[in-house]
Amino acid sequence: MSRPARADFDLAALRANYAHAKAVHGGKVAATLKANAYGHGAVECARALAGQADAFAVAFAQEAMELREAGLTEPILVLEGAFGMDDVALAQRHGLWLVVHQEEQLRMLESLQDRGGGAGVHAWLKIDTGMHRAGVAPGQARALWQRLAACDKVAGITLMTHLASADEPGNPMTGRQLAVFADATQGLPGPRSIANSAGVLGWKGAHQDWARPGIMLYGADPRGMPSDVLQPVMRLASEVFVERWLAPGEALGYGGSFVADRPTRVGLVAMGYADGYPRVVPSGTPVAVDGRLTRIIGRVAMDMLTVDLTDLPGAGPGAQVELWGSQVSVNQVAAAAGTIAYELLCNVKRVRRVYL
Ligand code: PLP
Repeated sequence: MSRPARADFDLAALRANYAHAKAVHGGKVAATLKANAYGHGAVECARALAGQADAFAVAFAQEAMELREAGLTEPILVLEGAFGMDDVALAQRHGLWLVVHQEEQLRMLESLQDRGGGAGVHAWLKIDTGMHRAGVAPGQARALWQRLAACDKVAGITLMTHLASADEPGNPMTGRQLAVFADATQGLPGPRSIANSAGVLGWKGAHQDWARPGIMLYGADPRGMPSDVLQPVMRLASEVFVERWLAPGEALGYGGSFVADRPTRVGLVAMGYADGYPRVVPSGTPVAVDGRLTRIIGRVAMDMLTVDLTDLPGAGPGAQVELWGSQVSVNQVAAAAGTIAYELLCNVKRVRRVYL
């Protein structure tokens, strides 16, 4: 028998979440599959969405090439743009759409004119509307758009920006970013793209021609709140493989961080921080055993963690454990760990992966 730690991936849920993004947003939707589809398997997710998704989005050209090599033919948006002329050449050869967020990248596209052949590249001009990470200054957008439009190797231009705080419903930053974008792009023709998942779910003003959601496709609301519509795609699961009793006053695990205050039945679960379950969660973090909610107790170790079985009669070795999925949301575990669902999902490794 193999170690029971595994991640199950529900690809029907992925398709349903994509359909929801599309219904809420209205326009076209590029499914963001960067970082191995937030840990879900980029090729598997792309195959599941092929024919349904309008396009895919990845971080860099090599991620796009993994999808092309797997036979996927949808347009692929490269969110970090080109790092060098080799990326531009890949874009020409394989129909990748390149984000242009700095003048250097624009110069690469301009240089194609002197190099002769090759197909045209679709450019997404990214405007920094207040996030102050990547993007051209709003005041430069018009001039850079004109330079792109003058390139004979630029086959189309989409105007885009990225929202810094759309996951905070009351944050005035988003309204300001939308206004800066509208002002910077006023009168320029062509499609526009603003919304990530939080923009799709919470900001009508961000609904433009294209959205680029990621996390909501995997079933997590970026605002950390429960959703009655989004369905978790990943279920991180394992089994209890040993049970034992603690007497009152006995401490459990590394550092003895949990001390029993009553006779406590402990289940050892084959899942640890080397599998991607966060070490930092405190005792009390929710976990489901045989469909019933209980709590993690003691410190998460590299290969195993410990759960409280005291109030779960009948649950012993062989009991099914859900670390996150539909009974315990990844957002709940992320909150306990002081991080976001994105990081937990991306970090899953070493476990058996099962596609449903
Ligand atoms: N667009 C851009 C430019 C991004 O960097 C990201 C991810 O960070 C996304 C869209 C998708 O964001 P989310 O997963 O929050 O929907």
